[in-house]
Amino acid sequence: MEVLYKSTRSDEERITASMAVLRGMSQDGGLYVPTQIPHLEMSLAELAQKGYREVAYEVLRIFLTDFTEEELRGCIEKAYDSKFDTEEPVVLRRGERADYLELYHGPTIAFKDMALTLLPHLLTAAAARNGEDREIVILTATSGDTGKAAMAGFADVPRTRIMVFYPKNGVSALQEKQMVTQKGANTRVIGIYGNFDDAQTAVKQIFLDKRMQEDLADKGYRFSSANSINIGRLVPQIVYYVYAYTRLLASGGVREGEKVNFSVPTGNFGNILAGWYARKIGVPINMLICASNSNKVLFDFFSTGYYDRKRDFLLTSSPSMDILVSSNLERLLYLLTGDADIVKGLMQDLQEKGHYQVSDALVKKLHSDFWAGFCDDDGTRDTIGQIWREHHYLCDTHTAVAWNVAQQYKASRPAHRPVVVLSTASPFKFPAAVLAAIGEQAEGDEFNQMEQLAARSGLSIPKGLAGLKEKPVLHTDVINREDLTDYVLKQLETL
Ligand SMILES: *Cc1c(COP(=O)(O)O)cnc(C)c1O
Repeated sequence: MEVLYKSTRSDEERITASMAVLRGMSQDGGLYVPTQIPHLEMSLAELAQKGYREVAYEVLRIFLTDFTEEELRGCIEKAYDSKFDTEEPVVLRRGERADYLELYHGPTIAFKDMALTLLPHLLTAAAARNGEDREIVILTATSGDTGKAAMAGFADVPRTRIMVFYPKNGVSALQEKQMVTQKGANTRVIGIYGNFDDAQTAVKQIFLDKRMQEDLADKGYRFSSANSINIGRLVPQIVYYVYAYTRLLASGGVREGEKVNFSVPTGNFGNILAGWYARKIGVPINMLICASNSNKVLFDFFSTGYYDRKRDFLLTSSPSMDILVSSNLERLLYLLTGDADIVKGLMQDLQEKGHYQVSDALVKKLHSDFWAGFCDDDGTRDTIGQIWREHHYLCDTHTAVAWNVAQQYKASRPAHRPVVVLSTASPFKFPAAVLAAIGEQAEGDEFNQMEQLAARSGLSIPKGLAGLKEKPVLHTDVINREDLTDYVLKQLETL
């Protein structure tokens, strides 16, 4: 079955998977979604005999149908190799009150690596497949983890260049250090005076600026995106939900067909949307638990059907979830209504008024797939401490939000089913917050704190972070968000 892709905001075009990857987002402002959702062709019991790369192939091939087997297997081989610390790139750690799906064993120590080690290879294969001979310029907004993972993936990849925009005061010290030390002649990292939403909006505006696109096309450039608005980001994220279930099957955690819940620390709604697709392709999932920090715009939306971004943007201890405009929710709205006009109207309201309201019928549908909760910084700190004391498991702030909300879910729904918590970053990425949570006074800079955390926990510092201290800072530009377009143009002219 060939799967084609269309925009969430109009019905005119149907394009191939490789073209959707290449474009990143639709010219009408919408995001690409598959026109039909495929089903896994191999049973979960069979997949339980296989490793991660094989599971990845089985998922990729049903969504990215115009890529050849050779291309997909080649991309997978190059992505999931010794860049990952563990034998399999993803580890399911069985726990007492929840299991942990550890997604942070890649080169940048956060779950973004699961997709961003693969995307550059998909993108170059897609360019070759479509006879694209212009240079591909990746523009990416980041709340802290995407930027580093995307640059690590694209650094020195021929015929590509990447520019990453991050909120200057909205990422952790280590996240910033990881980014500004990035090597690669084709990489640029730029701070923005503003928050993540400002950066994301400015980047999206460039994608929608037809004049600019045409102008640059003449000069030999094509823009694309490494944000989860790119379907090439989303599909690789479906893989680990399938893999998690097969690990549970293999270890006796579930019987075949038994449903599980996944609790997902959520920001831009990409990770949890991948879980929704996983359910559609045949993974027995009961509830997808949408866990927010104090920026709980999604919790409020799931409760009332009213999405309101007009509120204070809070800086929390889980910065990668500090987002008020969750891009991928647009995909879910389309997938549940099947109506591009409705989605277009809602997104117009969001842009012009800052809020929108969906129908009661749609809220009902949301509740059959999702359960939402939130956890503030105090709750996050208490949770990290509790898991450490009671289960001797050390988790980061984002994972703690998901664990906390998972327990709220279990308390409200007595029918017990297994809960898998998506563990999205290493605790070493947020050492000050984690030290405080386990009752230690953090001392010195973040490198000191990492060592302090290693000594206290008995865990070793992940290799992606260990060498960071000595690396020279290579990127120092900071700009106003209004100047983003000019900055991009100037960079392309001078490089
Ligand atoms: C990006 C990120 C999230 C949020 O994921 P979304 O796909 O944006 O919802 C959660 N935790 C960490 C550590 C992240 O880097």
